[in-house]
Amino acid sequence: MTQKHKPHIRDDHRATCLTCMDGRIQIPVITWIRRSSKVKYVDIISEPGMDGILNRPHAQMDAILTGIKISTTVNHSSHIFVVGHFDCRGNPATYQKHKAQIIFGTKKIKKLFPSYPLTGLWVNSKWQVKKIIELL
Ligand SMILES: [Zn+2]
Repeated sequence: MTQKHKPHIRDDHRATCLTCMDGRIQIPVITWIRRSSKVKYVDIISEPGMDGILNRPHAQMDAILTGIKISTTVNHSSHIFVVGHFDCRGNPATYQKHKAQIIFGTKKIKKLFPSYPLTGLWVNSKWQVKKIIELL
């Protein structure tokens, strides 16, 4: 087989992560996603209090949706994650409220990108990552 007929092999298996800008959660979240999804890279789409923003009207999500489209169609991401976390200063709320927002946001993105598996995650007070919802 000649070089040009070799199948294209990607060495950059990726996931897409919709998460808060908070620097305390980035490494735990990326590490967890890389381990659980066997991806090499995690495309980060961040906003202060992302889980809260995903519960707002569509008009306020344009930049986020553009990011997801690039990550999935151009970067070939295979899995989308939605993250909320303890002590979120961009979206101060109880755990129960965050949990409801993560579930709602995960379902909302799944409706817009139905061919991708979606997982909602929570980062707790010990900076441990916990699965809240999975829509495969
Ligand atoms: Zn936050």
